[in-house]
Amino acid sequence: MNVIKRVVFAVSLTVGMSALSIAAHAEDKGVIGISLPDKTESRWLTDGKSMVDALKAKGYTADLQYANYDVPTQVNQVENMLAKGVKALVIAPIDGKTFSDALAYAQKKHIKVISYDRLISQTKDVDYYATFDNYGVGVLQAQSIVQEWQKKGSKTPYNIEVFGGSSDDNNAHMIYAGGMSVLKPYLDSGKFVIRSKQVAFEKVATRNWDGATAQSRMDNLLSAFYGKDRLDAVWTPNDAIAIGVISSLKGVGYGSAQSPMPVVTGQDADIQNVKAIVRGDQTTTVFKDTRKLASVTADMVDDALTGKTVPVNDTKSYNNGAKVVPTYLVKPVLVDKDAVQPLLVNSGYYTAAQIK
Ligand code: BGC
Repeated sequence: MNVIKRVVFAVSLTVGMSALSIAAHAEDKGVIGISLPDKTESRWLTDGKSMVDALKAKGYTADLQYANYDVPTQVNQVENMLAKGVKALVIAPIDGKTFSDALAYAQKKHIKVISYDRLISQTKDVDYYATFDNYGVGVLQAQSIVQEWQKKGSKTPYNIEVFGGSSDDNNAHMIYAGGMSVLKPYLDSGKFVIRSKQVAFEKVATRNWDGATAQSRMDNLLSAFYGKDRLDAVWTPNDAIAIGVISSLKGVGYGSAQSPMPVVTGQDADIQNVKAIVRGDQTTTVFKDTRKLASVTADMVDDALTGKTVPVNDTKSYNNGAKVVPTYLVKPVLVDKDAVQPLLVNSGYYTAAQIK
């Protein structure tokens, strides 16, 4: 069945339900479909909740769905949202390339499409993109490795290993490019050494940003290349991967007075990682305030639907293969142990009890 047939089929199945929900929300400005990748990382839960609240405050009802990291599930969920007559779609794709058919249908029906956090690619039918400065995330992670190296006396050679995110996620490539822009001079001069020589993005990528996959790769790297010699730092692109890397490091005895943890970076300020930073197992994370991203996105939805000018601050960086998508970039911030209280607790992102 092609997408239009599938959507028409789904409409006939859900028509009774839609009528009911329209009646129940007679005062609403309409339903907005939100499709997020997965529930295992705490950030996506915060994204979802913040967006539902922000859209509600503007008079919309949100239909929030998570796709359990399964591409066909996510495509089905989006098609069902279209069938139910949403006014706009907010999608953080698992695989950015999989929405062309569904979004062509959305375009025909004048349904606005916002790419959320991750870029939807290979289609013109995406109106706006709201994300964090992903290149900047990589720069912050790599800078934190350089800073820790300097704090410890800039000894050479400094042994590092590199992990990448999921290759079907454009963010992973942007982060890699940002981090490499900082690390390359240190690698070229031999101050930093990657003993495994695994450095090309395809060699270090981690499918679905999966922590267990990262853990087994780290196990292999430690046994093949380190033995008695110390690994000094791991460039870890997000917090889920950091959890896997930390378990592996602890498994071979890092994290004691004689053998302190290597520098481990991250991204998202997920609760378990903030705890790891407080304990000293993880060095830094990059805090991306998902409340801000959600509120920018709710503004985009409302402005686009009410014919107002939609604010964007980047019209160059995000070419999705079919067009440059007008983007609003939110600034990421590095968090170390000292920054947990001021940035994460005082701002109300977490309560002190949540991260104990
Ligand atoms: C997001 C990160 C997240 C990763 C895994 C990326 O697209 O930008 O915040 O850690 O996906 O879910």
